[in-house]
Amino acid sequence: SKGAAMVTAVAQRLAAQRKEIDDTLALFRLGPENLQQVRDKMRVELERGLKKESHSSASVKMLPSFVHRTPDGTERGKFLALDLGGTNFRVLVVKIRNGIRKSVRMYNKIYSIPLEIMQGTGEELFDHIVQCISDFLDYMGMKNTRLPLGFTFSFPCRQTGIDKGSLVSWTKGFKATDCEGHDVVDMLREAVKRRNEFDLDIVAVVNDTVGTMMTCAYEDPKCEIGLIAGTGSNVCYMEDMKNIEMVEGDEGRMCVNTEWGGFGENGCIEDIRTRFDREVDEGSLNSGKQRFEKMTSGMYLGEIVRQILIDLTNRGLLFCGRITEPLKTRGIFETKFLSQIESDRLALLQVRAILQQLGLESTCNDSIIVKEVCGIVARRAAQLCGAGMAAVVDKIRENRGLDHLQITVGVDGTLYKLHPHFSGILKETVKSLAPQCDVEFVLSEDGSGKGAALITAVARGQK
Ligand code: BGC
Ligand code: MG
Repeated sequence: SKGAAMVTAVAQRLAAQRKEIDDTLALFRLGPENLQQVRDKMRVELERGLKKESHSSASVKMLPSFVHRTPDGTERGKFLALDLGGTNFRVLVVKIRNGIRKSVRMYNKIYSIPLEIMQGTGEELFDHIVQCISDFLDYMGMKNTRLPLGFTFSFPCRQTGIDKGSLVSWTKGFKATDCEGHDVVDMLREAVKRRNEFDLDIVAVVNDTVGTMMTCAYEDPKCEIGLIAGTGSNVCYMEDMKNIEMVEGDEGRMCVNTEWGGFGENGCIEDIRTRFDREVDEGSLNSGKQRFEKMTSGMYLGEIVRQILIDLTNRGLLFCGRITEPLKTRGIFETKFLSQIESDRLALLQVRAILQQLGLESTCNDSIIVKEVCGIVARRAAQLCGAGMAAVVDKIRENRGLDHLQITVGVDGTLYKLHPHFSGILKETVKSLAPQCDVEFVLSEDGSGKGAALITAVARGQK
């Protein structure tokens, strides 16, 4: 009959649409062979970054941190810490006690960095930072104390000492002028001088991964790796000095800031990048750079989702084919959103409510699709981090000539902490890709503050 024919036609159309959606999402599905390849390529890049002859052209920069050991619990003292490069700028006072009263206490204040300062001149940025420090010292009644300071600066820094490091390139949302190639400690000191109001004793400049590792190691001596899965993505670990060809000396170990976010800048993962990843890259502040970071970190996952939703909408598969203003707005999907959408207990009605808050009218079917898109993008991110981590732990295992390695990773970052599935998929992936390693992940809250103070203490040898 005519009615039955119409029903069949509708069913066929729906099936065809479903297939188009599935085909698009399939671009993000990584099988075991893909992931093994990512692990193996990451391993090659880690080695290239460490070797003198390949270092300058390596996409994974393997930057020395000049941190030679993790804390042993004897550290003590009172420190200032600065934390720049995460979600906010913070100034902290950290008090570390040792002995039977071993503890870390912190007081901090959070300051926002307005977009026009993030992307203004370097002088404006550092003047703003010093302004915040001044406010904090007033607030704490500490203008006249001169505490040793640890500066957590969460960007690639080419260090030549614990308190010397020049910015290689801005990442994430930062783009202040006249900073790249300049020493960040010098820039901070100059801004303090310009203000001519108080003095700072800057002892250490620290990457957030290193701070995170140190914070975790303070409680667990097996922690020799730090991972950030947040706005950005990065890993550090304790490497043997003899393998770090860029630094003189063969004795002992040093923590290396891998800057694995740059993985793929040489084109070695183009086979798994999709047209959506390229779109996100082209719309970013640092096109061509940080390709791995752009597939794995909070700042970009929402953008990948948005690009997919735009594509599906353009093809009439979503939102009744209507591209609305919010969908055109860069940055509208924050990590928080991805995490909320994917929280299992949310009924689809709530997914719709979230979309509505963003100004996106959706049908029930739309919200199913959006949830699927969020899921697949976050899953790939966690798998890629896992594949990278498998390369790191297996390298450490081989360094030490072990059949089996037991190691702890200190982790921080909004993606890891807030997303309902990210950490589970990450762990599962490491387990299957590095079967000779037993890797424990420990949340290392506030590594950027505590860790900077611990590094300052270790550097000072204050015992
Ligand atoms: C930076 C790293 C940092 C990571 C996490 C990346 O964009 O290049 O230095 O550790 O973000 O904050
Ligand atoms: Mg060496």
